Amino acid sequence: MNVPFIDLNAQYRSIAAEIDAAIASTIADSAFIKSPSVTQFEEEFGAFLGAEHVIACGNGTDAIEIMLNAMGIGEGDEVLVPAVTWIATSEAAATNGAKPVFVDVDSETYTIDPKLIEEKITKATKAIIPVHLYGHPADMAEIMRIAKKHDLKVIEDCAQAHGAKIEGQTIGTIGDAATFSFFPTKNLGAYGDAGAMVTNDEKLAETAQAIANHGQTQRHHHTMDGRNSRMDGLQASILSVKLKYLEKWTDSRRRIAENYRENLAGLNGITLPSEPKNGRHVYHLFVIRTENRNELMDYLSEHGISSMVHYPKALPFQACYEYQNNSFSDYPVAKICQDNLLSIPLYPEISDEQVAYVVECISKFVDR
Ligand SMILES: *Cc1c(COP(=O)(O)O)cnc(C)c1O
Repeated sequence: MNVPFIDLNAQYRSIAAEIDAAIASTIADSAFIKSPSVTQFEEEFGAFLGAEHVIACGNGTDAIEIMLNAMGIGEGDEVLVPAVTWIATSEAAATNGAKPVFVDVDSETYTIDPKLIEEKITKATKAIIPVHLYGHPADMAEIMRIAKKHDLKVIEDCAQAHGAKIEGQTIGTIGDAATFSFFPTKNLGAYGDAGAMVTNDEKLAETAQAIANHGQTQRHHHTMDGRNSRMDGLQASILSVKLKYLEKWTDSRRRIAENYRENLAGLNGITLPSEPKNGRHVYHLFVIRTENRNELMDYLSEHGISSMVHYPKALPFQACYEYQNNSFSDYPVAKICQDNLLSIPLYPEISDEQVAYVVECISKFVDR
């Protein structure tokens, strides 16, 4: 049996007629840029989150960059980011001229460890960007408490956690602002690049909107140097169709995760992802931990199962941050993550037989 890591075509097949119609109508209307479908998606996504302002943009990296810029964070400032996340989180700080300062992650949730935040705060610190990594909500209550105490902005990086919740509140509505990516493999994915910024702060929303649109507050009136970061009409029309299915897909992800959880429980040397006590994990990825990670990955591959490593080199140890002289002993959990974490196949359309086969192969590997 073959088990791909993800199967985007299976998802397309399940809603092909609706997607094809949405694409055809966008093309028939030539509604490519600044199209009504973008405004419509912004409204629908805002309603889904319970957020006042959604500003669509080109991708999830732009969203973080523009939000930091709109908050006036740049040259000479420091931004706290988790040591384990996709590079976009720290890159967005750096491209604004700020310095990303890494905070190690919690060994159970793999999200930024609030216990380690305060020791990293200096006079230059302006913001914290928690990431709801792999779909697991970060500890927002603690993060907001610390941010308030030190007068720091909080931008939630929600690229991997569409629809995750804490105490019933949808993530992306807790910090000062939030950013989303709709990269095709994300829980809500477009058919190309797309992203969004979210905030309940009207002024911040206006500034972010202007930056994303050449610094224009009205047509041909540029109040600042902005940039061009737009979601196109085709992507918005596709996302509106897919948004209707997101809850159903999230339920499937959670059901599959539960299946893995039950059947992989107690396997020697395999640690399962933590399930939050007060929130909803949306399982963008199902990430297990084992000291024999590379051997397990090879074994699964020999048996037709694709798995992936997110991420093989944690950010503090990347060449672009060599100037920071970070060492493994400064980020012990990040080091464990890069060496021991393995993402196994989980997507809404995976079959029970495929999940059973993955479980069987991992069990055989452990017993070998
Ligand atoms: C995917 C991702 C991003 C960036 O999104 P793009 O749309 O690819 O630019 C940012 N942060 C995290 C944690 C991501 O996983």
